[in-house]
Amino acid sequence: MIDLRSDTVTKPTLAMRQAMFDAEVGDDVYGEDPTVNRLEARAAEIVDKEAALFVPSGTMGNTIGIKLLTEHGQEVIADSRVHIVDWELAMTAWFSGVQVRTVETTDGILKWEQIRGLIKPVSFNAAPTGAIAIENTHNLGGGRVYPQAVIDEICDGAHERGVPVHMDGARVFNAAAASGNTVKRIAEKVDTITFCLSKGLGAPMGSIIAGSRKHMDRARLLRKRLGGGMRQAGVLAAAGLIALEQGPAELPRDHENARFIATELAQMEGVTPFPVETNIVVFDVSATGRAPRDIAASLRERGVVISAFSDRLMRAVTHRDVTREQCATAMGELRDILRRN
Ligand SMILES: *Cc1c(COP(=O)(O)O)cnc(C)c1O
Repeated sequence: MIDLRSDTVTKPTLAMRQAMFDAEVGDDVYGEDPTVNRLEARAAEIVDKEAALFVPSGTMGNTIGIKLLTEHGQEVIADSRVHIVDWELAMTAWFSGVQVRTVETTDGILKWEQIRGLIKPVSFNAAPTGAIAIENTHNLGGGRVYPQAVIDEICDGAHERGVPVHMDGARVFNAAAASGNTVKRIAEKVDTITFCLSKGLGAPMGSIIAGSRKHMDRARLLRKRLGGGMRQAGVLAAAGLIALEQGPAELPRDHENARFIATELAQMEGVTPFPVETNIVVFDVSATGRAPRDIAASLRERGVVISAFSDRLMRAVTHRDVTREQCATAMGELRDILRRN
């Protein structure tokens, strides 16, 4: 199978498996797992925040992030296709008791201009704004990278109004690789950030949430509340540490493969890829007259898996476990399927 559904399908490397085997462990609920502590310290250093917390998933990281920054009955401003709205089971409502004020964008990139008029103070009618959430890279926007000036403007504007900013940086290392900015710079002004160890970086599971010491102390309680208090989690953190140290350097190759896929797609009749900046290629197949679901089913019969996620759009994601050659094979199969009308 050539699996281009998501970078979540990456399998742990030999070095990770060896590190997991060798990991020194303790009870992390008591704060005594040395490997988890090392991972959290290293993650905090990389994003340059006071503290970081190892969580089982990005969804839990975002859930904790929103809870930390808001109170029940408030509103979170986000673009309309963010992961926290589309793919996290309405945890904003379920756990934090907030509603999301969504804003339409063309590419998932929210601008301060669109946000400023929506920020509301406490009043007798409207829900006050608790936080702003931005997703970098933006998944459904086609892996788009927030321009640094846009992040800075949002954070400066929001902070001036007393509103904190959460970054869902599930793929922030991809954003760094594509923009040339460090993750530290990208995260500089946001209050909390989550990122995934388990996607392009290749760890078998786990994410990080980072922010102030005070926020992370509370995040530890919230993680427990969500069922995320893990005991000898050092076996997982050991793989996470390798993902952090070795994963980022490999992302440019994934980005090149994604550009290759987009170039191939652009040459197929009726197929229009979104602009590609990182490892995600969203493409519109409506002009082929074929349904994404049918195309995906035909591809699967030929050993290629690509997601169909609307009646127009498909998504291919490159990652460390697919080679350029496999990308070429996948595109060959797609071309062939589209020819056989
Ligand atoms: C994958 C992803 C997450 C977190 O997903 P989990 O499967 O819960 O780890 C969060 N945000 C975005 C944008 C993602 O792509």
